[in-house]
Amino acid sequence: MAKRLFPILTIIFLFLFLSAAIIHRSALAVFSATERIPYSDFKKLIQDDKLEEVIINSTTIRGILKAEEGQKVKNAVTTVKVEDPDLIKELIAHNVKFSATTDGGWGQSLFLLWFVPMIIFLILMSRMRRGATGAGLMSIGKSKANLYIDKDTGVTFDDVAGVDEAKEELKEVIDYLKNPQKYQRLGGRIPKGVLLVGPTGTGKTLLAKAVAGEAKVPFFSIGGSGFVEMFVGVGAARVRDLFAQAQEKAPCIIFIDEIDALGKVRAAAPISGGHEERENTLNQLLLEMDGFDTRKGVILMAATNRPEILDPALLRPGRFDRHILVDRPDIKGREEILKVHCKNVKLGKTVDIKIIAARTPGFVGADLANVVNEAALLAARLGKEAVDMDSFEEAINRVIAGLEKKKKVMSKKEQEIIAYHESGHALVAETVPGADKVHRISIIPRGISALGYTLQLPTEDRYLLTRSELLDRLAVLLGGRVAEEITFHEISTGAQNDLERATDIAMSMVREYGMSEKLGPMTFQNGRRPQFLDIGFRTGRELSEEVAKDIDNEVKNLIFDTHTRVKGILEENKDRLEMLAKLLLEKEVIEGEELRKIISETASGHKTISSV
Ligand code: ADP
Ligand code: ZN
Repeated sequence: MAKRLFPILTIIFLFLFLSAAIIHRSALAVFSATERIPYSDFKKLIQDDKLEEVIINSTTIRGILKAEEGQKVKNAVTTVKVEDPDLIKELIAHNVKFSATTDGGWGQSLFLLWFVPMIIFLILMSRMRRGATGAGLMSIGKSKANLYIDKDTGVTFDDVAGVDEAKEELKEVIDYLKNPQKYQRLGGRIPKGVLLVGPTGTGKTLLAKAVAGEAKVPFFSIGGSGFVEMFVGVGAARVRDLFAQAQEKAPCIIFIDEIDALGKVRAAAPISGGHEERENTLNQLLLEMDGFDTRKGVILMAATNRPEILDPALLRPGRFDRHILVDRPDIKGREEILKVHCKNVKLGKTVDIKIIAARTPGFVGADLANVVNEAALLAARLGKEAVDMDSFEEAINRVIAGLEKKKKVMSKKEQEIIAYHESGHALVAETVPGADKVHRISIIPRGISALGYTLQLPTEDRYLLTRSELLDRLAVLLGGRVAEEITFHEISTGAQNDLERATDIAMSMVREYGMSEKLGPMTFQNGRRPQFLDIGFRTGRELSEEVAKDIDNEVKNLIFDTHTRVKGILEENKDRLEMLAKLLLEKEVIEGEELRKIISETASGHKTISSV
């Protein structure tokens, strides 16, 4: 029963879907050409009295231009809607007719709403009857509603700033796309899939476009979330179609934005059918990735801000095995991004891009583009000759207000706490003998969870760790928390991950490595940790209650003793801690070399202070 109902339902859905798509198109077709323009240009059209009518919907604004003499068909423009409370006032002032719709102007031709879909419906029906049941449906996958092809993106690496490491890594891909045969002859292994990982707005899409632009190859892009809303079977068909088209146009790039929407971990055993379509689509994608031949010159790129939820199958060798971090820009990166976006803006003499960069910690490229745009609008509204610093100040405040609503900016206080916390880790790491050297400290939020980070790199490969080295590692982990304690006499939630890792180390020392004096050289867990749902994990050795208590006590002692030790270290170095934290607040990133220089330079100064 359900089986028979299914094709009928599908047809009804297709019918509605197509009618929507067609109406959408036809409404646009009344005008000869619709050009997408930036909002600033759109405002200029109003001010120059070039617009006859404006139709506003929830995300875009369409403007119909006044016809020039002798012109029969009117031109239209569209622009993305910007928060602009003065728009209506200006429209009235310039005598422009305006109206609002809730969507892309569907209601414009009711006639088409019924007539055209009817014909399509009939065509479909006759096709289905011809027996090619599947084939008739599959061609729907060819509808390119959210597949977007760009023959030449026109974007170059100059348009993307502040992500030098990512660019460096992508150079190889460009090289390859420019000349696949040459590469092949030399036998180089080319990544099939490149995954760009980083917060929203850091320029992942822009980077992918720039790779296509630099290599001068076509750019196919599609959103991962688009697949999920599809009818059964259509998502997979679309993936197949996408790859077929791309192979025809090779060398080229296929870009899948928000791949997490499509590539979430598949359920171990599908209980409900709810995710079936997504999984079908994902399976098809995996199949296509395995099937296609890189030698033809198709490179798959994808972007995500949640790599941790991706299905591991996607990340296997031969699939998305190259990961490139596109992080939030540091102060220098922000300066470069601002320069890119200020290229076509007339700047006043007072404008100092360095200062703007310093005022916008935590901003991503998209936020900075927003600041420049906002500042230009503000200056235009006030009739200024050029965009001055006041406009930028105001624009930053507005963007911050917007971001605060979305909880994306850190308060000054939070930043201060993080700066002290990270400085604490770094100072301890440089003081104790057995810790890895600090490579970099940063208070720029990294990825999704960590607020700041202190990156340590081992100087050599290690197979064995001594007890004192483990204790030193413990000390480094506690350094962040202790720095907060002695500076603010208050502790925050920021150390949770540190404490987890510290507890882990201490536990292992006592239970696995036999490093506790009280318990002696014994292990209490057969060296293995309980796995999730590992019912048999107690089979190793039953612990008596007494021993369990001793273990807990020993773990606690290790941590408490280390805590006291770290407190000693940081209290003795309190002036250095402060100096480092302040520098970190100012620069946001301190490299290891620089850190060591600061420490050694303050060494003598510190001694004189403490001897007074
Ligand atoms: P993502 O794909 O990471 O969410 P996008 O590439 O869509 O981010 O970025 C949105 C816009 O923000 C870009 O079109 C560009 O104008 C601006 N932008 C973002 N990052 C950068 C950057 N690194 N350099 C220059 N502009 C950027
Ligand atoms: Zn920490």
